[in-house]
Parts: sequence; structure tokens; C-alpha cells
Amino acid sequence: MGPPGQGRGAGERRARGAAQVSVEGPPAAHRSAHRSTARLEQALVEVVGHAHLLSDPDVKRSFEVDWTGQYRGEARAVVRPATSAEVAAVLTRCVAAGVPVVTQGGNTGLVGGSVPDATGQAVVMSTGRLNQLAAVDTTAAQVTLGAGVTLAVAQAHARAAGFEVPVDLAARGSATIGGMVATNAGGVHVLRHGMMRRNVAGVEAVLGSGDVVSHLGGLEKDNTGYDLSGLLCGSEGTLGVVTSVRLRLVPSLPHRVAALLAWPDVGTMIAGLARLRAEVSGLEAAEYVVRAGVELVCATFAMPDPFARPYPAYLLVEAAGTLDPTAELAAAAGHLDGVLDAAVASGARQRAALWQLRELHTEALAAAGPPRKYDVSVPASGLSQFLDRVSSLLAPAVCHHFGHLGDGNVHLNVLGVDGRSAAELDELDGTVLGLVAELGGSISAEHGIGRLKRRWLGLSRSPAEIATFRSVKAALDPHGICNPGVLLADDAPDDDVGGR
Ligand SMILES: Cc1cc2nc3c(=O)[nH]c(=O)nc-3n(C[C@H](O)[C@H](O)[C@H](O)COP(=O)(O)OP(=O)(O)OC[C@H]3O[C@@H](n4cnc5c(N)ncnc54)[C@H](O)[C@@H]3O)c2cc1C
Repeated sequence: MGPPGQGRGAGERRARGAAQVSVEGPPAAHRSAHRSTARLEQALVEVVGHAHLLSDPDVKRSFEVDWTGQYRGEARAVVRPATSAEVAAVLTRCVAAGVPVVTQGGNTGLVGGSVPDATGQAVVMSTGRLNQLAAVDTTAAQVTLGAGVTLAVAQAHARAAGFEVPVDLAARGSATIGGMVATNAGGVHVLRHGMMRRNVAGVEAVLGSGDVVSHLGGLEKDNTGYDLSGLLCGSEGTLGVVTSVRLRLVPSLPHRVAALLAWPDVGTMIAGLARLRAEVSGLEAAEYVVRAGVELVCATFAMPDPFARPYPAYLLVEAAGTLDPTAELAAAAGHLDGVLDAAVASGARQRAALWQLRELHTEALAAAGPPRKYDVSVPASGLSQFLDRVSSLLAPAVCHHFGHLGDGNVHLNVLGVDGRSAAELDELDGTVLGLVAELGGSISAEHGIGRLKRRWLGLSRSPAEIATFRSVKAALDPHGICNPGVLLADDAPDDDVGGR
């Protein structure tokens, strides 16, 4: 992969053309480029109003760098529409001007898909004002939310009506429902409720063609053709802008218990989890961390060690039910081979303390880094082997890992490699992702492809699948203005590496 912000998207192709005009072209061409810039800005102001077209460099800055700090670019402007009609009007004007659009929700994505490239050509479409909250439909157990509603606000809204949002993740304070649809987010409850796609009952979106597709009725049975909502899940802003989401909810359960179990090694922990899944009916989460990560989190956030003694591996499980699941969980854990220690928490505050140990990993690693991040999944039977092989392949670099054990999803974070050249990092990526593919895994479990992994898409998708992706993109975004260079290496099939 090239350095941040050096993708090969349509925006950059346009930018190269534009640069020739301004650097080499005659003054008249220069003036005309300025006029067209001013014309687009004026047209966008007419749609959203002066207050919601941001062009001051200081104000734009936070929209131009991603959460990891590794992807930085420059936006021509940031536009903040408040309705689906405004989104459609903005897209139509950008199509007319041939200007790419990068959609941005909470900007917590971890694969560089939410920020513009370095050319200064793209407009960032920020969804923060698409924040409509319809009343919870308690009969259908569904709710319709604006795409810019954050997960935390959606959770509070659902809880007030006796429901929960089935998908939960640590970035809940900023991550938006639209961003979660666009990345098909996973998180900590996939074990029980699946990823975002399974929990979306309908979507409204403005496609790159300018067409508005709206399917928010929420019917559970509706076999009337292609599932456009499902297609938009995981589309990473490359087909259009999601403006509203009809989300399935699950009832809030009155009883909840979490337990942290300590293990001698990851292999024993994986075997133990298989038994827990069979025996604990209300299991909602099964997250793992290892000693090095626990030490890093405790040191970074001045937190106490969870046990009096250190252990190699830890499994955080949570169960919920209409009846108290504590006895069921304790009995099942008591029968497991290899558990060295256990802490059980049923009160909300104690549970939150256990969860912090897991959820603060991403932030602790960011503070220690920047890490090279790999969000991969491997079949449970190959997970232990993967971790052993990848650690020895990457030595002496420090290889932290933690993740959603119940889904075979490992977040691998390699520290101490930020001084390496682009070619060396590329080689590192090839080593890690190649091993994942060899073991039958996926190069992106839940964060998506973005710019970070587009070069490696061919390791998880066949040439026929990638060709079909390109056909879908061409049909729904015929002008190629939606997030060019994200997910698909735009116009450069040879950038797709590998093959199944
Ligand atoms: C601390 C931390 C923990 C995390 N934990 C998890 C986790 O457990 N599971 C998980 O899956 N992810 C996790 N993530 C990653 C991230 O939170 C998710 O990918 C989330 O879904 C991104 O939402 P967002 O609103 O921030 O999207 P952004 O970062 O703004 O955008 C992400 C992508 O979606 C596109 N997009 C955003 N909004 C829209 C829209 N309305 N229409 C069309 N395209 C859009 C963008 O163009 C971009 O390609 C974590 C991130 C952090 C920082």
C-alpha cells in the first residue's frame, strides 16, 4: 500500500488534470477553474446555507484526518446536509461539477475510508445533521433513525422504550448508524445478534446516480426483488449516501452478568469457549485479551490488574436473560478445563470495569503506536495456529492481539513498525494477510476494506466477484463520484492482488 492519502481514485485522476490546468495552462483556463470552484461552492450554499458549507482550513481540519491519524487528506469543502433531499441536491451538484464526494459519519472507521485524499478535490459529506429519531415502533420492535444518529444516542432512545440496539461497539459515542450500515459493523454482540446487515430492516439512500431509493417499511417478509438495503451494508460509501435506516431492536433483558476467566493459553481458552456456547443459553459476548494487552491498558489508563496474579490469556463473557443467568454461567464455567481464575460481575458498574479492560485496547494501542492494524477472521480451528505463526513471522516487532473470540475475529496490532518504508509495510501486510488467506480466513472481519486493504481484496474475493463489484459500482454510481479509491482500487485492476 502506498502512504496515506496517495490512493489512485477517480478524484486523483481528476486532480491531476486540474493541476495541469492551474500550473501549465494559460491564465484564462486558471480563471475558469476558479470560476467553476466558486460556482460549485455557491450551488452548495444554496442547498445547505452558509453555516453548513465549511471551507475554513481550521474548521475543515478535523474532517481531514481519520481516527488512527494515519490517513490525512484535504477537502475542497465540508458540506453538512440535514435531509435526504439536501443530500440528493448536493450529490447532483457534485455530479454536474465532476467532483468526488467522501461521506463521513463519526469518522471512527479504521481503514481510511472516511477522509478525502490529498488532492483537495473531494467534498466531504458530513452526515451529523441527519439526526432524526422517529418514535420506537414497539409492535414491530423497530425504529427509523437518521444516518447521522450516533450509536450511543440510538441506544438511549431504544432503551427508553424497553429495547436495545442489537449491535454494540466501543466507538459508540461517535460512530453513526449510517457509518455502521456502510461498514456492516460487527462489535461485541455478533455472537448473539449478528452484524449490522442482519439487523437492518430497510434503508433510504441517495445513490451516486442521484436517485433516492427508500425502503423503510420494515416488513419482515418482503420478497420483491433485489435487496438494496443489504447491498448498501458494507458498501463503504462507494455506491451512495445512506440517509435513514430502519433498524431491528431486541428487548432489553432485565438480568445481565459478566465474567472474566483467566487461562493458561489461547488454545485452551478457545476449547473452553466452545463448551460455554453450548451450555449458556443467554451468552451475548465472548471477547478475549492477552497478558501484554492487559498490561498496556492498565499502564496507559492507570487501572488495577484484574487479578492478584498475571495470566497468559483472559476471556470476557457476558450473558443476559429474563431470568438471572449468573448461576448458569457459574456452573458452566466451573466445569471447564483450564480456568485458572475467575471474576464475576453482575452490577452495572462492576461489569463496566471488566469491559474497560477489553474496550480500551484500541485507544491504548493508538497511544503506544501508531500500530499497523489487521482486523481479520480465521476459522476457530485455525485461530491458535494463526496467532503462533503470525507472531513468529513478525518477530521482533511486537504483535498485540485481542478480539471477538466468539466470531474468530482477531484484531492484530503490530507496534514498532512506523519507521518502515512503504515497501516494507507492504511486505508486512502481504505476510499477515497472505497467512490469513492460506488458513481460509477473511482479510477484513468487520472494519471493511477502505483504502488500507483495497490492494489485497483479491486474497478474499475471486476475480469474478471483484468484476461483479465493479459492475454494481458502475450501475449505482455511474459518474464514479462516491468515495473513489475506497474498497475498489479505482481504474486499476492490477492493484487487486492475489486470487483465491
Ligand atoms: C475504539 C474503536 C472501537 C471500534 N470497535 C469496532 C467494533 O467492535 N466493530 C466494528 O465493526 N468496528 C469497530 N470500530 C470501527 C468503527 O467504529 C466502525 O467501522 C463504525 O461503523 C464506523 O462508523 P462511523 O460513523 O464512524 O463511520 P465513518 O468512519 O465516518 O465512515 C466509515 C465508512 O463508511 C462510510 N460512511 C459513513 N457514513 C455513511 C453514510 N451515511 N452513507 C454511506 N457511507 C457512509 C464512509 O465513507 C467510510 O467509508 C471501532 C473504532 C474505534 C475507534
